[in-house]
Amino acid sequence: MPPDTSLHHDAVVIGGSYAGLSAALQLARARRRVAVVDAGRRRNRAAAHAHGFLGQDGREPGAIVAEARDQLLAYPTVAWIEGEAAAARKAGTGFEIETGDGRRLRSRRLVLATGVVDELPDIPGLAERWGRSVAHCPYCHGYEMGDGPIGVLASSELSMHHALMLPDWGETVLFTNDVFTPDGEQSAALARRGVRVESQRVMRISGERADMELADGRTVRLTGLMTLTRTRMATPLAGQLGCALADGPTGAFVETGMTKETSVPGVFACGDLARAAGSVALAVGDGAMAGAGAHQSMIFRPD
Ligand code: FAD
Ligand code: MG
Repeated sequence: MPPDTSLHHDAVVIGGSYAGLSAALQLARARRRVAVVDAGRRRNRAAAHAHGFLGQDGREPGAIVAEARDQLLAYPTVAWIEGEAAAARKAGTGFEIETGDGRRLRSRRLVLATGVVDELPDIPGLAERWGRSVAHCPYCHGYEMGDGPIGVLASSELSMHHALMLPDWGETVLFTNDVFTPDGEQSAALARRGVRVESQRVMRISGERADMELADGRTVRLTGLMTLTRTRMATPLAGQLGCALADGPTGAFVETGMTKETSVPGVFACGDLARAAGSVALAVGDGAMAGAGAHQSMIFRPD
């Protein structure tokens, strides 16, 4: 397919999930021409229910996105491009975005909403349970794990934070799994919160929810398991564009100012990509700010 440089947009939004849709909605409602490029791999696609998002608590996460996309596409200035943005670069006073199938889009502003990818601990049985009985966020899935016992599978010393929080949701067991050994102070803090520590290595996870099969042959039956994943940005686009990054507790994220503009003027970033730890509600809020920020920058800071 020949490259199409005739498509000029006020803004191109890369990533059409919660953050990207929210950004695009503000731009569309300001009658701006906006294109959304989306590869359709939401971070929470393994989960059957999304929790903690006001007005949508417990709804299927894909249904929230599908309804939002339908509402967005009702605006006449919106184009939806299914697929991957493969490259993005500064071009003149704006940007050029190249899609995986060779299309080229030109825009004045760029909004990155591409999210992050979770790197799961490599334990047999864990990946199949991800988003169902294994999760990373107590606020999202802790309540559904019932009274417990809820497990915390250590992935680094940061899992102390998880372990100290979870007793609010249910009886908690911390599986240190040779990742770290709580020191005296940490052990005392865990004891004060009533957390039991299991130091045997986890060999496998099985069962309906999460039966933790340990190296010494015992099995600890859980109502659910929490583990803090490492996260990485879903695409290298922010780095390619030269956006400043920051180190978060689970991985790098894109630094932004109050209007969600990055260190590269004209490039905005929102959602999980642009904060240390995210959620649907925060992605929607950040997206709204990025969309309004990108819009106003075209008025008050013309190219
Ligand atoms: P995402 O939803 O991850 O969307 C990013 C989009 O960008 C995707 O569609 C992706 O395909 C697209 N994309 C990436 N790269 C490109 C590219 N190069 N070109 C085109 N498109 C691209 N949060 C809650 O609030 N409640 C919950 O109950 C909850 N449950 C969760 C369960 C699980 C298992 C996980 C892992 C997360 C959960 N979260 C939950 C967190 C929530 O999923 C994220 O905070 C939210 O999805 C962030 O939205 P986003 O728009 O920033 O990114
Ligand atoms: Mg998005």
